Amino acid sequence: RAKLMGGGQIQHFSEELKAAFKRKLTMESQLRAALDHKELFLMYQPKIALKDGSVAGLEVLLRWRHPRHGVVSPVEFIPVAEEAGLIVEIGEWVLKSAVDQCRAWRVEGVPTVPVAVNLSARQFHRTDIVGCVASVVRDAGLAPGDLELELTESMSVQCPERSAGLMARLRGLGCTISIDDFGTGYSSLSYLKQLPVDKLKIDRSFVQDMHQSAESMAMVKAIIAMAHGLRLEVIAEGVELQEQLDGLRAAGCDQIQGFYYSKPLSPEDCAGYLREQAAPRAPG
Ligand code: C2E
Ligand code: MG
Ligand code: MG
Ligand code: MG
Repeated sequence: RAKLMGGGQIQHFSEELKAAFKRKLTMESQLRAALDHKELFLMYQPKIALKDGSVAGLEVLLRWRHPRHGVVSPVEFIPVAEEAGLIVEIGEWVLKSAVDQCRAWRVEGVPTVPVAVNLSARQFHRTDIVGCVASVVRDAGLAPGDLELELTESMSVQCPERSAGLMARLRGLGCTISIDDFGTGYSSLSYLKQLPVDKLKIDRSFVQDMHQSAESMAMVKAIIAMAHGLRLEVIAEGVELQEQLDGLRAAGCDQIQGFYYSKPLSPEDCAGYLREQAAPRAPG
């Protein structure tokens, strides 16, 4: 009897696996088509400098307008794109589109700020990322300083020397390098010390409950103090509440990003936002 039940469970499990596998294959082929059919688009989320409230930059966030499922989150389809190798093409498209948008704003007289693009592990390790970044920026007539690259800690733990080398070359071009989701990876502090980066981005999980958890608050303070000790800038992501903002300001955080200031914006809304923010305030 036990054997029968076990067999039944295995069968049930394999049906589920089959379904999941099918879903993935479907998504993979649809994602392949998405690039050609122009279903991918970018949103732009402002980063604010706490010292004066100015817009310090924009993070570029990828979206997929699926013909049937509506807008799909990158959390769902980036892993699929990575596994299928599609991330190379998609990643290049993101870089190029972001830089072209920045260029277009400049031509239209929109006051622009640096744009930050997220890179995936495979894109970073398996493509000529340095050559790609250099040519994309050059073709758009922008300076590498207009581009910031967000990498995660976990991307560099497999091959630390190679990663550090690539970061140094990207930085050598003039791009800003930041470590995204900082505090959630496993890199040691001695490794961090050697990383050629400019900026740490405190993960949302610490920011989320810093106003109600002494532990999270302690982490946030420690990360900020350490970053400044290493002469790195610090930005906090996922700031939603006034209490979080107050805590981050008190701890000396340099920049913040989150729904408290702005959700990710369409290019049109973002242009309006940039114009508005750059305009001199009405007196009084
Ligand atoms: P991330 O780089 O850590 O981006 C921050 C995520 O937090 C974004 O989710 C953003 O919309 C969200 N967010 C911003 N402010 C708040 C807030 O105040 N509260 C909350 N709850 N969320 C906030 P999104 O756009 O869904 O992106 C998720 C992840 O997907 C990104 O995390 C990044 O790792 C990845 N991703 C997005 N675009 C790209 C891309 O072009 N290429 C690659 N390789 N990955 C991307
Ligand atoms: Mg990011
Ligand atoms: Mg992040
Ligand atoms: Mg994050």
